Amino acid sequence: MKPAAAHSLLLRSLCLALCCLGGARASWRSSGNHEWKKLIMVHHWPVTVCKEVEHDCRDPPDYWTIHGLWPDKAEECNGSWPFNLEEIKDLLPKMKMYWPDVIHPLNHSHFWKHEWEKHGTCAAQVDTLNSEKKYFGRSLDLYQQLELNSMLQKLGIKPSINYYQISDIKDALASIYGVIPKVQCLPPKQGEEVQTIGQIELCFTKELQLRNCTEPGEPREPRGAWGPGLEVCEDGPAFYPPPQRTAH
Ligand code: 5GP
Repeated sequence: MKPAAAHSLLLRSLCLALCCLGGARASWRSSGNHEWKKLIMVHHWPVTVCKEVEHDCRDPPDYWTIHGLWPDKAEECNGSWPFNLEEIKDLLPKMKMYWPDVIHPLNHSHFWKHEWEKHGTCAAQVDTLNSEKKYFGRSLDLYQQLELNSMLQKLGIKPSINYYQISDIKDALASIYGVIPKVQCLPPKQGEEVQTIGQIELCFTKELQLRNCTEPGEPREPRGAWGPGLEVCEDGPAFYPPPQRTAH
């Protein structure tokens, strides 16, 4: 065989092998290995998001916004299902209002793409969430049904320079929603007295019915389970930071 022909044959074999590998990876990622049981509606407090990233976010929203709708124990289930902004164009006004990119408020779609690729492609295992439009649309519906902002107001839980007891917040939310929520905090930094409230999670079944996020007696997640930032709040006092308006 001539060297050029041998080279071309080698290249074709290599391509074929890579294609097979790619195919196997795609089908593994979309297989049942990522089966999940619980959906977590994650609300975050934008003031704390800005504090966490130490980024100069200007005037973050002064209401709880959506971080994501996350299936438990599932991430990046279908890498070959790209995010398409066009599919959710009808939802954009609500998306910008309730699911803004707090860190990059001038370009929300990177954040939505990230949430879709990491969590949405896994949530899509159930028919009610099996498209981008359904995933984002249902998430917005759940957020609006939960009305966390007005519930907290009603409970008298407002951003304040005085500290709250985490158990009081959890008990108040449980009394309103009838299920056990999860509250996450930033641990105190050097020089700070207490942790800072960052996220409130409310959980749903696959049928989108509210359920407990944790079961009574379930062990606490180990410290740092969510990376260097947020952790399940320690029982005890916590700071719910008021927004600081910058002068324009
Ligand atoms: P996950 O990757 O599981 O969806 O969420 C964790 C990551 O989201 C963290 O790296 C955190 O910094 C990031 N994050 C939280 N809120 C925002 C936001 O509003 N915008 C962007 N771009 N990232 C965020």
